[in-house]
Amino acid sequence: MSDFPSTARVVIIGGGAVGASGLYHLAKAGWTDCVLLEKNELTAGSTWHAAGNCPTFSTSWAIMNMQRYSTELYRGLSDAVDYPMNYHVTGSLRLGHSDERVQEFQRACGMGRYQGMDMQMLSPDEAKQMYPFMETHDLKGVLYDPSDGDIDPSQLTQALAKGARDLGARIERFCPATGVTRDGDEWIVHTHKGDIRCEFVVNAAGYYAQTVGEWFKPYGGRTVPMMVMSHQYLLTDEIPEIAEYTANHGKLPLMRDVDSSYYLRQEKTGLNLGPYERNCKAHWITPDDPFPEDFSFQLYPDDLERLEWYIEDAMARVPLLGQVGINKVINGPIPYAPDGLPLLGPMPGVPNAFEACVFTFGISQAGGAGKVLAEWITEGATEWDMWAVDPRRFTDYTDPDHCISKGMEVYGHEYAMHFPWHEWPAGRDRKRGPNDAIVRELGGVMGAYNGWERANWFAQPGDDVSEKATQTWNRAGPWAQRIAEECAAVRDHCGVLDLPGFTRFHVRGQGADDWLRGLITGALPKVGRMNLVYVADARGRILTELSCIRLSEDSFILITAATAQWHDGDLIRRSVPEGVTVEEATTERSALIVTGPASRDLLAPLTDGDLTLPWLSHQYCTVAGRKAHIARVSFAGELGWEVHAANEDMADIYRAILDAGAKPFGMYALNSLRIEKGYRAWKGDLSTDYSMLEGGLDRFVKLDKPQDFPGKAALMRERQQGSAKRFVTLIVDAGEADAPYMSTIWHGGDVVGETTSGTWGYRIGASIALGMIRADLAVPGTELEVEIYGERFKAVVQPDTPLWDASNERIRA
Ligand SMILES: Cc1cc2nc3c(=O)[nH]c(=O)nc-3n(C[C@H](O)[C@H](O)[C@H](O)COP(=O)(O)OP(=O)(O)OC[C@H]3O[C@@H](n4cnc5c(N)ncnc54)[C@H](O)[C@@H]3O)c2cc1C
Repeated sequence: MSDFPSTARVVIIGGGAVGASGLYHLAKAGWTDCVLLEKNELTAGSTWHAAGNCPTFSTSWAIMNMQRYSTELYRGLSDAVDYPMNYHVTGSLRLGHSDERVQEFQRACGMGRYQGMDMQMLSPDEAKQMYPFMETHDLKGVLYDPSDGDIDPSQLTQALAKGARDLGARIERFCPATGVTRDGDEWIVHTHKGDIRCEFVVNAAGYYAQTVGEWFKPYGGRTVPMMVMSHQYLLTDEIPEIAEYTANHGKLPLMRDVDSSYYLRQEKTGLNLGPYERNCKAHWITPDDPFPEDFSFQLYPDDLERLEWYIEDAMARVPLLGQVGINKVINGPIPYAPDGLPLLGPMPGVPNAFEACVFTFGISQAGGAGKVLAEWITEGATEWDMWAVDPRRFTDYTDPDHCISKGMEVYGHEYAMHFPWHEWPAGRDRKRGPNDAIVRELGGVMGAYNGWERANWFAQPGDDVSEKATQTWNRAGPWAQRIAEECAAVRDHCGVLDLPGFTRFHVRGQGADDWLRGLITGALPKVGRMNLVYVADARGRILTELSCIRLSEDSFILITAATAQWHDGDLIRRSVPEGVTVEEATTERSALIVTGPASRDLLAPLTDGDLTLPWLSHQYCTVAGRKAHIARVSFAGELGWEVHAANEDMADIYRAILDAGAKPFGMYALNSLRIEKGYRAWKGDLSTDYSMLEGGLDRFVKLDKPQDFPGKAALMRERQQGSAKRFVTLIVDAGEADAPYMSTIWHGGDVVGETTSGTWGYRIGASIALGMIRADLAVPGTELEVEIYGERFKAVVQPDTPLWDASNERIRA
């Protein structure tokens, strides 16, 4: 008891695979004065009963990075820490039943190869040669991932723990954390063995993360958005044919029949079948099934009835399965966040606290998660942009009902394809803007943006708005004609986009000007004007983009994307000096974009504002007799205004603008219009994967200003040494689909970059991709190729001016 640590730099709460990996990576980074607390024995949570599959496949770049890193780590871990471990790299076969599935595989293959992995597409016959017991007659194509495999989750955790201990980190087993207190700049983590004072604390408590998260509420925290599913796999008796095959050829690759929603893996000389069933079951969500204080090393009762369809389907796929009995069933708790991805990164609203919890694939992701967590803590930034898993991506709309319905939806569609035109139906209508009813009456086909419902496009009577119609990667679909019409209205006349949910911060007080100059990379607008401002991290990489409206010398409104609400809130509030206040006004007000060459004439009779004021001006006035704040900007790249007003005034303003003849348009049209102008979108084109200079944002970087803003030194260095990559606009001779995010860009036989956005430009009549390429190739006219769902298409680098209205005459008209 006496050597119980009373101080540490970091305390990690939870000793599963993820917590242990976090400790190991902190220790490897030199932070050896760290302690992991485990309430029971290591692995007592989800880790001990996990199947241990370690896929690398993902259509998320960040997740693929984490999983790839894990497999690389696991290959050498046993030797590195001198701990014997069962890790079988068997490769995997992912079965595609449809052309769309094969396209999805092709896309992941492209991303995987870009990350240095040798993923390949196989014909069904080739796949059968690798897995002779499998029926392949109904398959369209198979993805082979040679780096897939399985690991013993307990051994993995123990190996990581040993590695951490050997470097000097501490692990306290049978030592539950019981609470936290903040004392000045330090955390005190309480346990029954004593308190530990530390700089940083990590919630790595797996499915207990919500309980642990409650302790942080007095310090700015929120309820951790999660729920718990029951997940099963079953192990068969030995299968003699598999024993014989293994003796001659080695282990079978893992097989995933993703369209039927299960995996089938060789376990010793039998099989392990693990379905993600539609008729799934959540646990611990009703009063008669309360969350247990301690569920260490426990399982739920077997529930094979739920899996019947999947077992039969797998028996048809691998008939050998029908010849053996079931030896064992594992039914354990698995936590789900509303999008099925983990919570990994800064704890929203709480200083020096992090989350590394709610992992549904925590064995395959533990390695990468440990690396990312350690980077967040020791460097304040991660090598790869990790927004996909950043806890701040969920805000206040994730109440228990939402978490439960989304968790069940994600679990039941764990292997589903995420088509660009599809919006998942569960957990919707969390936030409705003041014009919601009108938008829906007009045919709005809605999408959720940080919980806010916005129209993606406007359907006409007779248009197919079914979920089925959205199951395509291609541009064509019921929406295409409508998007074309909406873009044409914006180009030729006037369109209006209802845009609830913009994040707004009012920054006021003496010194606000100076403080903001020290935060952003560029210049502030003059009073009465507005401009875009950017915040970089210490490496000069892009953290965020905000519209900055200057009301007076020391009074500003910062407007940012709906999804950036908590991310940017954290960023802005982190360093507010005395005398300056930051108030958020996201929910009280809403916005419209009114844009197109006729927008001035259309607005003139409705407003007492001065519509001759120039581009990037703003003013308070009335619109349709209601108080409004109008700003002369247009993300669509036409003459136009953003109209901001209080919620209660918005419906009158919207109706008046519609009555005056503006055509409603949606987010899909806006995406096309903004890409034609080369306007970047946050967390696609603008991310911490790129520096400000790589991102082509040079004109928003003022290296000669006196303030020492974050990233200044790094950007000065980069300016002297040159950037490795450069932002470009490409015109692509695309086929039926435009380039999705992270399509690889080729030059000759080499991959030289990646796309960050792609769409059809309806005003210019061409497929466009925005992307990042090797800097020496960023020369107008350079011919490249973009790989779109496995096929390469010619692409030409465009001049560094917008494709539409190159000299910005239309927006300045
Ligand atoms: C049947 C099944 C099969 C699975 N198969 C796979 C698979 O093949 N591949 C894969 O990648 N994933 C799989 N998973 C998911 C995987 O098990 C989890 O994602 C992973 O184990 C999560 O690890 P973790 O460290 O985040 O959480 P956990 O392993 O749950 O660890 C959290 C730890 O925190 C401890 N703790 C909680 N509260 C406190 C406290 N107050 N103080 C101290 N300690 C505390 C708990 O005791 C626990 O040990 C499977 C899950 C199930 C249910």
